[in-house]
Amino acid sequence: ESGLTINRARKTFISAEGKQVKAIDDVSLAINSGEFFIMLGPSGCGKTTLLRSIGGMETLDAGEIYIGNQRIDQLPPYERPVNTVFQSYALFPHMSVADNVAFGLEMEKKPKSEIRSTVADMLDLVHLADMGARRPSQLSGGQQQRVALARALAKKPKVLLLDESLSALDFKLRRQMQTELKRIQRETGITFIFVTHDQEEALSMGDRIAVFHNGRPEQVGTPEEIYDKPVDRFVADFIGDINFLSATKTGPNEVSIAGQRFNADSSVLSHAVGEDLTAAIRPERIDVVPQGSPVAAGRPTLTGTVTDAMFMGFDTRVHITLEDGQTVMTRVAPPFDAELIKPASRVQLVIDGL
Ligand code: ADP
Ligand code: MG
Repeated sequence: ESGLTINRARKTFISAEGKQVKAIDDVSLAINSGEFFIMLGPSGCGKTTLLRSIGGMETLDAGEIYIGNQRIDQLPPYERPVNTVFQSYALFPHMSVADNVAFGLEMEKKPKSEIRSTVADMLDLVHLADMGARRPSQLSGGQQQRVALARALAKKPKVLLLDESLSALDFKLRRQMQTELKRIQRETGITFIFVTHDQEEALSMGDRIAVFHNGRPEQVGTPEEIYDKPVDRFVADFIGDINFLSATKTGPNEVSIAGQRFNADSSVLSHAVGEDLTAAIRPERIDVVPQGSPVAAGRPTLTGTVTDAMFMGFDTRVHITLEDGQTVMTRVAPPFDAELIKPASRVQLVIDGL
């Protein structure tokens, strides 16, 4: 049983200016055994402090942390069945790769033969089987990252903590390591808690994600839940691109946006008719069509003027100013009519699901 439970954890720091900073503000979380769990949030929201509290580098002011049924938050770090991979790989430069991986096991005075076979297994796992004799400085950044991972896994922790572990890598290598980390987690079955401020990384890697804001998780869910059903504006805004448009509730399930009436989903049911609301609409739900297009016939549409279009490779990001001055961003993928998305072009917007 390697699930991790955090129960009403709190940690306050005193800042350099003497102010109280609630780094962890009454956090309760249940992380499943064998889960790839992501803690996502902007800088300063308490991710590192929480991870360090699990690892034992930080002491909570209040609350409890359990792995399975074992309470760990009062144990010294080395007695916790947990290990950490830091962003700076923290490898020993004067030791070989194999000795780096063996280090924790040597400290525990494990038998030589066991150490040898574990080191071989770990280097195999991270695909560095023939690199054991090298020094870390003779490896690329990505390979050093793998050594750090092998070293952290060698002691067979129940939970592995990774704090922004891939952020030092360039884009391509990072993509590669994301896939590798997923594979290694699957193969070992160890519970991974991975901290990142990168929403794409979180969406693509997490079994579940906790989105942190001001020292606590604002929403916990699968990537699909977080993306499709954000609980509030902060989460909606932090994950992916989204348009916020002022709207007014004009009927039991009807809203008006820029003077046009749309059927709304069930999320408006709890609001009163006449209330001002915000419509949150992902770019991929907005289709750009020429004025008078048959595609828009019989559907409520917004009318606007293209202000600019940015080529992004796979698709093109188009900004449109609506009649009432609000702006909308959408993305169009080929094949599209280049004339349609030129600046000053008058267009109609069809919103999927409204
Ligand atoms: P994140 O990892 O999400 O960027 P941190 O956990 O590092 O966030 O920090 C959370 C808050 O706690 C920040 O406001 C940070 O300045 C503050 N903080 C973290 N560690 C200390 C410390 N040792 N002393 C004072 N303030 C700290
Ligand atoms: Mg941090």
